[in-house]
Amino acid sequence: MKTLVILGASGDLTGRLLLPGVARLIASGRAPGITLVGAGNDDWSAAKWQKRLKDGFADALAPGGDSTAGGIKELRAVKKNSSYHHLDVTAAGVLGKFLATVEGPVALYFALPPAVSQKACEVLKKSDLPAGTRLVMEKPFGSSEESARALNKTLARLVAEDRIHRVDHFLGKSTVLNIMGLRFANRLLEPLWNAEHIKKVEIIFDEDLTLENRARYYDHAGAGRDMIQSHLLQIMAIMAMEPPATLNENDVRSSIAAVLRASTIGNAAAPDYAASTRRARYTAGTIGRRAVPDYVAEDGVDPANNTETLAEVEVFVNNWRWAKVPFILRSGKALRGNRKEAVVTYKPVPHLPGGFTGVDSPTRLHIGFGPETLTLDIDVNGPGDLFTLDRVQLETDLSSDPLLPYGEVLEGVLSGDPLLSVRGDTAEECWRIVEPAFAAWKDGSVPLESYPAGSAGPAGWTTSND
Ligand code: NDP
Repeated sequence: MKTLVILGASGDLTGRLLLPGVARLIASGRAPGITLVGAGNDDWSAAKWQKRLKDGFADALAPGGDSTAGGIKELRAVKKNSSYHHLDVTAAGVLGKFLATVEGPVALYFALPPAVSQKACEVLKKSDLPAGTRLVMEKPFGSSEESARALNKTLARLVAEDRIHRVDHFLGKSTVLNIMGLRFANRLLEPLWNAEHIKKVEIIFDEDLTLENRARYYDHAGAGRDMIQSHLLQIMAIMAMEPPATLNENDVRSSIAAVLRASTIGNAAAPDYAASTRRARYTAGTIGRRAVPDYVAEDGVDPANNTETLAEVEVFVNNWRWAKVPFILRSGKALRGNRKEAVVTYKPVPHLPGGFTGVDSPTRLHIGFGPETLTLDIDVNGPGDLFTLDRVQLETDLSSDPLLPYGEVLEGVLSGDPLLSVRGDTAEECWRIVEPAFAAWKDGSVPLESYPAGSAGPAGWTTSND
């Protein structure tokens, strides 16, 4: 890629996440020869754009980290040569005319509100795009299976599927590759990775962050749309997928798609969303020393939206490997701590020789996502009395990429590798899986429970670590 064009350059995503991500990528020397162009609806001066770049690039330009001398020099040059353009991208012909002035191939990043991105793509023509253009679409990708399909059709008019990058910044390189490395490079794990040996799989993203002034987005999304619909289903698919022949994007993304096509929330034949899903919202409480107000008292929240801040769904992957094994996906805000991991709980042994005492606990494998860790909980013979079973944890750190999540996303875009991008059919499947449950939440079939901020969630919600 020659030019990275950020549409929505004056927005929050660009300032907080995209610019720091792109800066670290360039400073590490992994994205040479890029020109950065910003565009937005506000008429910003060149000086205002330079100030935004200065702030966004500050961390990457500071000493330390994994920046290289060459990368830093490059980043300074990118900053100096970067320009900002005042465009209404929804007006017919405006974006096309602008793109004609930009050196291709171009990566066109839609850091815009979803409805604006959609309109901008509708008014774009294939002939407007420089050869080799890649389109980068932010989440949420549509708001239903039907709207995701319509957006896919619009995009397919413009460029081929492997040139469309639907961003899921949770699908970081370390998350994806660490799970695949563990599963597919260890004979000890993969032969037991199925319904015969595994009792359940939990994928948990609990955080102590609260709304953090994001009501405009979050109060319409809630934990279900923000986390489960995209991020957690994607991670589940990597946990559950069949071994791909190679790490090529086509092999990997086809395996991911096959899992999602087979997945339903709850029992596919007789869904009961009050049994297979739970939702709750935080009330006033304390996290550490921080007093947290009731969610509905936060600025911008409309109690009528009935938004959940904690959600849990039980997904079944209805195929030979995973029949009847629950995949429990859970994510929430304002909880007592950060817990980001997948936990695989094995079934009990078929027979424990008589004579052992103590508790025969299930073997458990924890894959931590940030920090990247691996922990195996197993039973061994206890100290003192060899007839008593005792519990130990075998732990190691897994490797992670020093790039920020958006740096990883952009590296894939700029190097032309869609491995970490969500494929179009998969984006539709994710909505297909969650839509009936979300409809049940909306019609009140699943009660909205509550929990005090700083707690572990509502009473009775337990997971493997509790
Ligand atoms: P903001 O509302 O902060 O920014 C939107 C940007 O779009 C602004 O730069 C705005 O320009 C520009 N814009 C709006 N209409 C037009 C138009 N007609 N022509 C050109 N530019 C226009 O949104 P966010 O940055 O928060 O979000 C952007 C996208 O990223 C969304 O899809 C969101 O879901 C996604 N996202 C955001 C995250 C975040 O943390 N913010 C996290 C993950 C995804 P102006 O200000 O001049 O009107």
